[in-house]
Amino acid sequence: PIPAASNFIRAIVDRDLTEEKYAEKKWAGTPGDAMHHASGQTDFAKIRTRFPPEPNGYLHIGHAKSVFLNFGLARDYGGICHMRFDDTNPEKESQEYVDSITEMVRWLGFDWDNTRPDGSKEDNLYFASDYFDFMYAAAEALIQRGQAYVDAQSADEMRINRGTLTEPGKNSPFRDRSIEENLRIFREMRDGKHADGSMVLRAKIDMASPNINMRDPAIYRIRRAHHHNTGDKWCIYPMYTFAHPIEDALETITHSICTLEFEDQRPFYDWLMDNLADAGMINKPVPYQYEFARLNLTYVVLSKRKLIQLVEEKHVTGWDDPRLPTLAGARRRGYAPEGFKLFTDRIGVSKADSWIEYSILEDCMREVLNESAPRKIGVLDPIKLVIDNYPEGQDEDCYAPNHPQKPDLGKRVVKLSKELWIEREDFMEEPSKGYFRLFPGNMVRLRYGYVVKCLSCEKDAAGNVTTVHCEYLPDTKSGTPGADSVKVKGNIHWVSANHAYTTEIRLYDRLFKDPHPGSGDKDFLEDINPNSVKVITAQLEQSAQEAQPGDSYQFERHGYFVADRKDSVAGKPVFNRTVTLKDNWQK
Ligand code: ATP
Ligand code: MG
Ligand code: MG
Repeated sequence: PIPAASNFIRAIVDRDLTEEKYAEKKWAGTPGDAMHHASGQTDFAKIRTRFPPEPNGYLHIGHAKSVFLNFGLARDYGGICHMRFDDTNPEKESQEYVDSITEMVRWLGFDWDNTRPDGSKEDNLYFASDYFDFMYAAAEALIQRGQAYVDAQSADEMRINRGTLTEPGKNSPFRDRSIEENLRIFREMRDGKHADGSMVLRAKIDMASPNINMRDPAIYRIRRAHHHNTGDKWCIYPMYTFAHPIEDALETITHSICTLEFEDQRPFYDWLMDNLADAGMINKPVPYQYEFARLNLTYVVLSKRKLIQLVEEKHVTGWDDPRLPTLAGARRRGYAPEGFKLFTDRIGVSKADSWIEYSILEDCMREVLNESAPRKIGVLDPIKLVIDNYPEGQDEDCYAPNHPQKPDLGKRVVKLSKELWIEREDFMEEPSKGYFRLFPGNMVRLRYGYVVKCLSCEKDAAGNVTTVHCEYLPDTKSGTPGADSVKVKGNIHWVSANHAYTTEIRLYDRLFKDPHPGSGDKDFLEDINPNSVKVITAQLEQSAQEAQPGDSYQFERHGYFVADRKDSVAGKPVFNRTVTLKDNWQK
């Protein structure tokens, strides 16, 4: 595996640490510090990053990339990563999303409870909405400096007067209001004297800037909406572009890492930081924004809007449907946090957008599960195998290694008896060329058991094979001196019919049949794979019944399976297929 080595963001952090850019950063001193840290000590953290989801949906695999990047940087550089909810947009946010997000970040292996050198605790869980008072004060400060004004143009007028990439914008007729008038009207906005959408507060920068984001961006809007944290206290809310830099500054973030689509916002980020520092509202050094390419993964959609649509229109069973690329779905599917770590290390962090093949993620999960998952035997498409010369009513112990590469994990007993379940595809009445498994006259090894010779088969009225007959060679049991006395090419798995645990298994396939769902003129829903799940009844070895919800196994020759954490009841687990094995087992 490629180590989590260098990427351009790490190079930036290395540079900043070498230059001791943040050596003098203090806890106390800014209003923001006072809001959170009373201690006044010098910051022990070398760098501070943050993971700032908006609680308007469940986290997906793209977020995992950001989690590993931000929390990973902090961990590797002796820094701290803040868990921050960017909850400045009340209509679409809720506590349910907050809860699921914290649960998933913890599941990925990260925490925001940090212990300072003096032993005291620092809980770095933050809500942007806790800063609404400060943000409001920052907006007034800009007004006082002549750098913000209340604009009462209609939304259409504002859009038209913003100009285009080739045409400069036009100044608003409200741009030259006096400071006193702006202050008075902005306070009226706050006090609920004006209708939703009737006016906005805009930063006063440059309507002719080649960067459209610098043409007097809106920073506050009127919106009578109930907020999950602040209730009905506010009827005006800050815009994301105004709120986010302030959140970073108040938390003394050093490296504010976001996706590429915010690159054009960076000049405003810097403008705001410089001016608020100048106004004495925040401390220097101010945070800086760095952009990286977001994850685009084939065969899935990574947009909260589309994920919400899939859930609400019931194309899937819920946010944690194992076919969804949500982290809740991935966990239920049996994907492992370590697999996501390997994946993010492998794909790296770059400044150019690209598509990553879904199979790379699957390979990472296979690699991790191959290491960690104990082995079990399961027959997914069962037919009977009867050992004609094995005594009726008798059984015996066979020993199967729990993990072939980890002998210290020991072996478990699997019972052998006269009637077994085997895979339908392990028998052919008339073998094709190169087929080494069961056919009349051929010998195979029953893995961990005996060599058997195939005799005949029985079929139902439709001509489907129901039962295969064989006889066993008593001296050939695996692990005994006679095991190698007879050489065979085929080696098949089996489960004793009397001892089997019969249960439901869900075989998942991709949710979309197109690598780029919705590409061209299609609606992404048209690309849904109609066969993305198949539910079967399988015969598993007895010990599989002890699986606890969330336990992962390799079912030999088939792949990795997890006991479903929702539908399993005590002593009756049902399983989800996480990912198949590479098709490299011996036929
Ligand atoms: P969406 O586009 O799905 O709505 P978002 O960017 O609005 O996602 P946020 O809740 O704001 O979602 O995301 C939190 C963090 O996760 C942000 O810093 C964002 O850059 C990052 N992030 C979101 N999607 C991806 C992705 N596909 N790849 C990498 N990082 C992502
Ligand atoms: Mg966002
Ligand atoms: Mg979004």
